[in-house]
Amino acid sequence: MTRINPGGTIGILGGGQLGRMLALAAANLGYRCHIYCPEENSPAFQVADKTTIASYTNDVALTEFARSVDVATYEFENVPAQTADIVSQNTLLRPGARALMVSQDRLTEKQFLADAGVKTAPYQEFHTAEELDAAFKVIGRPSVAKTRRFGYDGKGQQLVKTSKDLAKVLSVTGSTPAILEGFVNFDREISVIVARSASGDVAAYPVGENVHTNHILDVTTVPAQVSDLVEAKAKVIATKVANALEYVGVMGVEMFVNDDKNQIIVNEIAPRVHNSGHWTMDGAATSQFEQHIRAICDLPLGPAEARGAVRMKNLLGDDILDCEQYLADPKASFHHYGKSDPRPGRKMGHVNWVEPAEG
Ligand code: AMP
Repeated sequence: MTRINPGGTIGILGGGQLGRMLALAAANLGYRCHIYCPEENSPAFQVADKTTIASYTNDVALTEFARSVDVATYEFENVPAQTADIVSQNTLLRPGARALMVSQDRLTEKQFLADAGVKTAPYQEFHTAEELDAAFKVIGRPSVAKTRRFGYDGKGQQLVKTSKDLAKVLSVTGSTPAILEGFVNFDREISVIVARSASGDVAAYPVGENVHTNHILDVTTVPAQVSDLVEAKAKVIATKVANALEYVGVMGVEMFVNDDKNQIIVNEIAPRVHNSGHWTMDGAATSQFEQHIRAICDLPLGPAEARGAVRMKNLLGDDILDCEQYLADPKASFHHYGKSDPRPGRKMGHVNWVEPAEG
């Protein structure tokens, strides 16, 4: 295994808030970061040692970037396969290309999860109106149509309650490949942030419970209001997924829970640090960002226990203007992403509240 010691340089594809918080954690451990991002004024550029502004299809710039770093990672799962190829030909890429391939396509992801022995919602793939009709007969109602690729925050999705909704589906999915998924009557949504190091050590954080508003994460609370059995099962599932992928780094595994049955269904996996893991910055001994840097540099993983009861709230758009209120709250830890334009729905920052455990 290749260890990268403090003093080394980490390359990050993507310059958003996740890249920024990764770079801050890396700096704290003594690493330098080189951020590669097509957009000028990216939040991560403000805290990086070196930056490259170039497109993800610029082979020359990608090669130069990869050769300038000891290990490369990414903050988003839609890194094009060709980009990952060029980077991995010129440096270590962690997590590897397989994690990208599996998570970029909902069909591949579901097949991978089934092979790993992990339960997902029932699904059928479709391309045409006829195939959609046939899928609807198998999956039943309600169901959710989702494009196989590039869907996030509810985009590229359509709820199907009756056969009348099928016409709407094709207007959302267009001619792109898609799946029809059974609607899960869950009691709560949870996620597990899990880290696996290059040496194969695994650390799973306590389960977080997530509440979404308008399909965007609003609040994560830890501990989740789930049984001890669900808590343990969820961590086992996340560990299984990380091991099956021979994953290196931190990943988020999103799940639906049925309380009565203690049943867990995996919704999707994200091969990167995850919004529902931001609570770890103040609520755990090791933040998910530091853990990711430790994992990809093959350092020992840090402790993943919670320091107490934690609540994380995303600050979207104008919410960021309330920063004084959070700064005046002695129990709140405020994080600003350095973005200047608070467009509605844009992730501008977050706040963590930690109620320390007694003793
Ligand atoms: P996704 O883009 O797959 O993460 O879906 C976004 C949100 O839509 C999830 O967090 C759920 O709240 C909801 N959702 C997605 N798939 C299903 C499903 N099969 N059944 C019920 N709700 C779902």
